[in-house]
Amino acid sequence: MKNIFSSELYNIEDKKEVPFIDREEILSLLKNNQKAPIEEVQRIVDKAVGKVCLTLQEVATLIGADYPEAIEAVKQGAKTLKQNVYGNRIVLFAPLYIGNKCINNCSYCGFKVTAKETIRKTLSPAEMVGEVEALEKVGHKRLILVFGEHPIYDAKYIADCVKNVYSVKTGNGEIRRVNINAAPFDVEGFRIIKESGIGTFQVFQETYDPELYPKYHLAGAKSDFNNRLTSLDRAMEAGIDDVGIGALFGLGDWRFEVMGLVRHTKHLEKAYGVGPHTISFPRITPAKESETALMQPVSDDDLLRLITILRLAVPYTGLILTAREGEKLRRDILQYGVSQIDGGTNINIGGYTEEEHKGDKEQFTINDDRPLNEIIEELIDTDFLPSFCTACYRKGRTGEHFMEFAVPGFIKRFCTPNAILTLAEYLEDYATEDVKKRGYEIIDRHIEKMEEERKQECIARIKQIKNGDRDLLY
Ligand code: SAM
Ligand code: SF4
Repeated sequence: MKNIFSSELYNIEDKKEVPFIDREEILSLLKNNQKAPIEEVQRIVDKAVGKVCLTLQEVATLIGADYPEAIEAVKQGAKTLKQNVYGNRIVLFAPLYIGNKCINNCSYCGFKVTAKETIRKTLSPAEMVGEVEALEKVGHKRLILVFGEHPIYDAKYIADCVKNVYSVKTGNGEIRRVNINAAPFDVEGFRIIKESGIGTFQVFQETYDPELYPKYHLAGAKSDFNNRLTSLDRAMEAGIDDVGIGALFGLGDWRFEVMGLVRHTKHLEKAYGVGPHTISFPRITPAKESETALMQPVSDDDLLRLITILRLAVPYTGLILTAREGEKLRRDILQYGVSQIDGGTNINIGGYTEEEHKGDKEQFTINDDRPLNEIIEELIDTDFLPSFCTACYRKGRTGEHFMEFAVPGFIKRFCTPNAILTLAEYLEDYATEDVKKRGYEIIDRHIEKMEEERKQECIARIKQIKNGDRDLLY
């Protein structure tokens, strides 16, 4: 297996469960690496395209190179890397909000304890089933369950929700991967949740700036910066080796947050030998009663820059772009490194079974509420290969997810065929005749490029799917 981690890791002293953000180090790296010449920028881009993780200094250099020629070089590098590593696949999922009770006071969030306008609601087990059925009926296979932080949402409760979701079957519909975005737990709590069969556990640091953090997190467990920073260490200790990190862009300077995210990946690589499974970069959107005075909004251009820099900095990690962003922006940005998006999203609690959109139990507002079928149609029309693949973690290929990137032929052997087979299932079960026709055209184009043996196998499996078989994963 190729060594993809940068040699910088040998100089990092990180230990398990020990905080690792050095504010001064990040500030001085940003200050001392501005406006590097294009030759240096290109060297760094080429290194990343050669599939080696960048050092923190190299990331700071890309951030500091804010002139058009350098920005374009980074953009093109990210596009090439995405093509080489992930091809045209885009994995689809949906968020399912389970409950919005919360004891914390994060000033930007509609669920905060002081938000009086938000109607508090937790789905009953039966309501949860209704929501999952609605999601399965449009073709979803991967969900992320989202929770506020509240004593009633303890580890056992979350584990029970996961089991409930997996138990729901609607025709050929089923949920095959449940990820979680919830408050972090201690090791024992994470262990209970792991045993329910989750995929990824996400915890966003929101801001990696320890001076800014307390200004936004005013009360509750979440106000402890270091406790949150080391929470995914505890998940790792509990055996959850697919973890998702993220920063809420718009709280602080985006440059600092990118450095924080990369520093976090290096911590996990150094302490556990495995980096994050995914990186998220949600941008703040308006929320009821949110306080905006301190915020540092990130422009669309800077969002694109930060995505392309992250793509190059950590080439093996999945990047998630959510419906917080609008339709056009999502369309434009996809090609530069994103590997997962949500579709048909509704974040009102109980929203998937509501007759009309209410928004009274929402955490924030979203900007792309198109139904899943429209998003699939657009992906197909713009030559992306929509994927509902859940094979890796179900086949035990977790933790070392960077295999798909470091092991020669991994994508050809597993990812592309699994994307094709799960798309074929979608086309058979949920698509209109027109989309089905166009979907199979894109499948045919990808099959054409396969090696002979896999190609014949794949063609045979598609026949099986047409005859009613399902879940034929590699
Ligand atoms: N309550 C848990 C926690 O805070 O870790 C679960 C996560 S919260 C329900 C999901 C994420 O939404 C937060 O981590 C934050 O990054 C994001 N978020 C909160 N308010 C937001 C807003 N106004 N706009 C966009 N994203 C927001
Ligand atoms: Fe609660 Fe999470 Fe919102 Fe903070 S971000 S108020 S912890 S739901």
